[in-house]
Parts: sequence; structure tokens; C-alpha cells
Amino acid sequence: DPVVGVLALQGDVREHLIALAAADAVARPVRRPEELAEVDALVIPGGESTTISKLAVLFGVMEPLRARVRAGMPVYGTCAGLIMLADKILDPRSGQETIGGIDMIVRRNAFGRQNESFEAAVDVRGIAGDAVEGVFIRAPWVESVGAETEVLAEHDGHIVAVRQGNALATSFHPELTGDHRVHALFVDMVHANRASES
Ligand code: GLN
Repeated sequence: DPVVGVLALQGDVREHLIALAAADAVARPVRRPEELAEVDALVIPGGESTTISKLAVLFGVMEPLRARVRAGMPVYGTCAGLIMLADKILDPRSGQETIGGIDMIVRRNAFGRQNESFEAAVDVRGIAGDAVEGVFIRAPWVESVGAETEVLAEHDGHIVAVRQGNALATSFHPELTGDHRVHALFVDMVHANRASES
């Protein structure tokens, strides 16, 4: 089984480790460059993107992350993790950086105050069967995407799931629902990438 890391600087790391194990990956936390070097793929959890950004710089893992993503390592970001994978943030906090990897512009906390947290059924392209239960918590949306970025889902006319090459991102949190189909889709991407490399 592929080894999939979860960036464990801040956020809902444990839930992703459980979801990945349920999707037949060997899941482990990643904080340091040496740990990053040992995984086949990486999940960036939900949490607070400014905090994750600052801790990634502090732990010396920001540049290694950029290098691995650029080199095609499969990566999946949820919520704050989606923000970390954006090439551009519309409204960054000061000092906030991203890893990048997906040609898109994101808007943080986009769904607004009255609607800070909600659940909605989301149809995700590539996932068969029932709609995915989307858990949105102060979620970003994707304001616009480049030509190479595939839109996988929308909610209320806003893009909430995308893929570009080996990078996948959702505004919502499948790791909180017990439905592991999005993680399984990601683990399939990891298998496909390993097959193409060998
Ligand atoms: N609002 C958070 C941010 O901007 C993301 C929230 C989440 O990951 N649930 O980073």
C-alpha cells in the first residue's frame, strides 16, 4: 500500500490519518523535511491556513513541499489545505504564503458569517453513487481557475472541488463524515502515479 503523509503542523490531522487508513493507505504524520521525503503522497488538512503557512516556514518544510508538489507528488488539500494549494489567494493575511500547485484564485472564509458552517450534498465528478456530504467550516471557495484546472464540484454556483494533474482540493471536509470515497479517489491517484513512475 502507498505511504500517504498528513501535514501535521495544525488542523484536523487525526481525522485524515483515519480516513486514509480506511482507504487502504499507510498513513503517517509529516512535520519535517526528512519525513516528507519518505512519503508517496501528502494530505494537507483543514485548520487555519495562515497558521499552517507560518509553521511550514518555521519547520523548514515550505520549500521542500513546493519542490515535491512541483515534481508531481500527489497532494490533496481540504479547506485550509485547499488554500495552501492555491497559486493565488485573493485576500491573504499578512505573511501568508501558499505551496501552490493548482492554477486557481481562492477566497478565504467565502461563504460568509451567517453561513459560517453548514452541510450540503455535493456531486463530485469522479465519485460514483450518492452525493458526498459536504461539511463546510468557514470554508473558502474557488473564485476562478486556469485552463489546466478541472472543476469537480460546485455549491450554490461556487467552485468547491478541483483537480490539476496530481493535485486535488476540496473546500469541504470529507475526513469528518465517515464516507471515505474522496480519500479513496485520492489513493487511486497515488496508485496511478506510482504505476506511471515505475
Ligand atoms: N477559514 C480557514 C482558513 O482561512 C479554513 C477553515 C477550515 O479549514 N475549516 O484557513
